[in-house]
Amino acid sequence: MDILYGICSKFADELEVVMKCPICKSPTVDAFKPFCSRYCKNIDLNRWLSERYTLKEEFSEKEIVQNFK
Ligand SMILES: [Zn+2]
Repeated sequence: MDILYGICSKFADELEVVMKCPICKSPTVDAFKPFCSRYCKNIDLNRWLSERYTLKEEFSEKEIVQNFK
């Protein structure tokens, strides 16, 4: 039984190790899940915002072209 319990807790530890920051691959910190720090969280947010902004730009450009036709 002790051996089984040992295997189970080892497996649980490995599962936690899988949680890694998607930006820098450092271990995740609970306060900033799924990131490792406020810094990486901000990097991800900025990426997301700039992608969104780019899409919006393209869209409004098409709109302008249509309006001039
Ligand atoms: Zn990170």
